[in-house]
Amino acid sequence: MDLHHITAQQSPQTPDEVQTWEPGLAWLAGGTWLFSEPQPVLHTLLDMGNFNWPSLQAVEETGLEIAATCTIAQLHAFGGSTGVPASWQAFPLIQTCCESLQSSFKIWNEATVGGNLCLGLPAGALISLAVALEGTCVLWPRQDLPRSVSALEFVTGVQQTVLRPGELLRSIHLPASALRKQPAFRRFSQTQEGRSSALLIGTRCPVTAEILLTITAATVRPVQLRFATPPGARDLAASLEAAILPTAYFSDPHGTADHRRHLVHYFAPQIIEELA
Ligand SMILES: Cc1cc2nc3c(=O)[nH]c(=O)nc-3n(C[C@H](O)[C@H](O)[C@H](O)COP(=O)(O)OP(=O)(O)OC[C@H]3O[C@@H](n4cnc5c(N)ncnc54)[C@H](O)[C@@H]3O)c2cc1C
Repeated sequence: MDLHHITAQQSPQTPDEVQTWEPGLAWLAGGTWLFSEPQPVLHTLLDMGNFNWPSLQAVEETGLEIAATCTIAQLHAFGGSTGVPASWQAFPLIQTCCESLQSSFKIWNEATVGGNLCLGLPAGALISLAVALEGTCVLWPRQDLPRSVSALEFVTGVQQTVLRPGELLRSIHLPASALRKQPAFRRFSQTQEGRSSALLIGTRCPVTAEILLTITAATVRPVQLRFATPPGARDLAASLEAAILPTAYFSDPHGTADHRRHLVHYFAPQIIEELA
């Protein structure tokens, strides 16, 4: 789409070249969302294409570092590689989550992991991955020191994040301790390659047997529940009711809030049973 309100595009070599920030500026990553609808409040795009951050760095003992500019296609290809540590049981989640976007050829090849997180859509499947695998987001503010927030806290609502004006998402770190966990995955979409109505991921720690249940797409922001031992059906239902108020379920043409609540209560026991 031609963006008629955009009058300038800049291509800084490093983020430090952008010292001052004003309304109307926006970081440009893959552009798959920015160019998909009118952007009347923007006048200048700051292309991140020259930053040349290494897309992926895997270290068995510490985990996986994903640059915000890593494309979903690159992450997916990495998820299918054979050289990953055998202990990273949760690794298949990477490809499964990449495949959980409603993505055309263009989106698949251009969209970035960081763009997916920063857009903060409930159906952001890379948000689901980062939260379920206990990721930490590294943020680079303008004229301030870098800071870190957990992926769980990063998205605060529908298309809302903790990012301050001009702040960059630099990278997402998935710790090895989470990558070593046993995963379970459930997703519903109204069409085969459609946008997710509900996406739930469970992980079970091989050391403590603790179960972490992450609920996304169905809710306006990610929700995570922690169980020291597998909960029974009633306890699980009660925990879900306590953690997700009726107003916290998302509603759009891809699913009503009631239907999404039904999906969460349908899939959660399956995940617990699979992991237990
Ligand atoms: C047909 C269609 C289907 C789609 N389906 C889905 C879907 O199923 N699920 C989903 O989640 N999304 C979907 N999207 C939205 C979008 O394509 C994806 O979320 C994609 O991952 C965005 O990544 P991008 O790199 O293209 O971001 P961009 O479009 O470049 O940027 C998105 C936003 O994030 C900001 N931003 C990007 N990177 C950074 C950064 N590192 N730091 C700070 N701010 C940043 C930009 O300024 C902008 O506001 C869809 C879009 C279309 C057009």
